[in-house]
Amino acid sequence: MSDEAVSAYISRRRIGEAEITLVSEGSCLWAPRLSVPEPEWRRALPEADAQGRIPIGFAVAHIRLGDASVIVDPGFDDPGSAWQARFDAAFPSLAGLVRTPGLRAALAHIGVAPDRITHVLITHAHADHFAGVTAERDGRQHARFPRARHLVGRADWERNPKRAEPASDLAVRLAAIERLGLLDLLDGEREVAPGITAIPAPGETPGHMIVRVRSGAASFYYLGDLFHHACEVEHPDWAPPGRDGAALRASRDALVADATASGALLVYSHGRFPGWGRIRRTAAGPRWEAAPA
Ligand SMILES: [Zn+2]
Repeated sequence: MSDEAVSAYISRRRIGEAEITLVSEGSCLWAPRLSVPEPEWRRALPEADAQGRIPIGFAVAHIRLGDASVIVDPGFDDPGSAWQARFDAAFPSLAGLVRTPGLRAALAHIGVAPDRITHVLITHAHADHFAGVTAERDGRQHARFPRARHLVGRADWERNPKRAEPASDLAVRLAAIERLGLLDLLDGEREVAPGITAIPAPGETPGHMIVRVRSGAASFYYLGDLFHHACEVEHPDWAPPGRDGAALRASRDALVADATASGALLVYSHGRFPGWGRIRRTAAGPRWEAAPA
């Protein structure tokens, strides 16, 4: 594979001693339907098409620090899988997804063996963030990271109505991980490995978390769906429908305070790949600023 083809779906940065690898699972058009009148969101989303759709990505992170080898948001099943074949029917709002070679190929490329992954951190229990915990072969679910502790927010598991839907990815895939005894539930902030901390950040879902990596003076956050688009940094009360606006605002304010003070490198799940950025305080308020490698 050419360097250009690799850099289209794999992007790596160092944060102190930590190595952060972002892997793009794919891209599509998606309508965020932000909670403000159309002229307002159109001003903030000049790239939106006639249907209000913007190009988005699906970024998985791999973090290597000390003895830890951590996946954040394991994304999708493989591009050729039965799960992928059902994708447009299962996720009509994401129809037309264009896949990359995917996470399995990316890990092979960077020399990370799936059975050496120590932790899988799931920012929240939406299927586009966790379906890749298993791979489907011959109609059966196989843990992709069979030695990893898998962590999800307690509320996203225990109070999730999808558990009662037998065909849902939660009931099929994450439940398979639970049956294997690999699932842990997060209640409060937890350092899962030295320098790598899961931090509750509810709003997108009740159990949503973000992940902070600290090494020396440097820090990085994987933000999941704390922001869906950079315009939500400038407009922290904007969100797609169905979110808990007050909780989301509080979680965003806490992150912005820390990220502007620390200068942390940031990524949110659905930025256009690779999507590295920082949040700067300006006279007009906080702003997202791209941070290309
Ligand atoms: Zn998402």
